[in-house]
Amino acid sequence: REPLLRVRNLVKEFPIRAGVFRRQVGAVQAVSDVSFDLYPQETLGVVGESGCGKSTLGRSLLRLIEPTSGDVLFGDEDVTEASKSRLRELRRDLQMVFQDPYASLNPRLPIRDIIGEPMRIHGVGRTESRQRVGDLLKRVGLLPEHGNRYPHEFSGGQRQRIGIARSLALRPKVIVLDEPVSALDVSIQAQVLNLLDEIQDEFDLSFIFIAHDLSVVRHTSDRVAVMYLGRLAEVADRDSLYDAPAHPYTASLLSAVPVADPRRERSRKRIILQGDVPSPSNPPSGCRFHPRCPIAQDRCKTETPVLTDVSPTQQVACHFPLLNGEPLLTRIQDMGR
Ligand code: SF4
Ligand code: MG
Repeated sequence: REPLLRVRNLVKEFPIRAGVFRRQVGAVQAVSDVSFDLYPQETLGVVGESGCGKSTLGRSLLRLIEPTSGDVLFGDEDVTEASKSRLRELRRDLQMVFQDPYASLNPRLPIRDIIGEPMRIHGVGRTESRQRVGDLLKRVGLLPEHGNRYPHEFSGGQRQRIGIARSLALRPKVIVLDEPVSALDVSIQAQVLNLLDEIQDEFDLSFIFIAHDLSVVRHTSDRVAVMYLGRLAEVADRDSLYDAPAHPYTASLLSAVPVADPRRERSRKRIILQGDVPSPSNPPSGCRFHPRCPIAQDRCKTETPVLTDVSPTQQVACHFPLLNGEPLLTRIQDMGR
């Protein structure tokens, strides 16, 4: 299988400015050397705590913010090299759905215009556009009449359906979903997740599904990438990641996710990490996770681990990965910590 999107060594830096002249005194690397592939019709979950750079990654991929360096190859084309007009064309194929549907919908426009806007920009005729807006509204579970109403007249879940309809208007191939259900009530979340699942099959879509914890993407992702302080810690197919996490950070995150089986729930030991996530403006040397890693060794303070295959379906950035399903707790106990 050929990847649809190949991300290579992507970096996004934000300048740090200080003083009356706002001179640049440093930089925050919010996304640091990130590489991964996205396959046709697959969902790749991207998970990490707030501030880990996952939203910045999502926006950089589509150049809603400009990446500092690296490549985003869509087919044979490097999105990072595309001219403004070419980028507008590429947006047909590459779309985004935001966490807060209210903030991303223009409050002064009726829904019909909000969903129709991408089509207007891309020169879709009025009659066809009108037809498509009606179809899209129906497809996401609303009524064509809703097109005349304004965003504030809808609930959070309905607004997210509108955001999804807009993202589909140009029949894209890839949609970056930035925490699409985090702002919604739990009872509504499942409905929106089901809708996403249905449209993925129907429209042949690939999703990059950004989430802040591993439980949200468990049932929706084919593969999962775990991010820590701007870097990928682990990328694996879903079963490997949840059953046999290789990175200590993934293992500790998973230890906090409730499991359905009550026997396993009882025997489960939650691993609580020491300290807070360090500031991305001054990341730790070597492995960025080393100050909090329960199995860190001297080497981890100086040498940055790179993402390496530990099996055909699992890559991990760790000098001492957990292999063959070895529990993190066993390793901690073996080390006498
Ligand atoms: Fe822990 Fe070292 Fe692996 Fe980093 S490289 S996760 S500090 S064991
Ligand atoms: Mg480039």
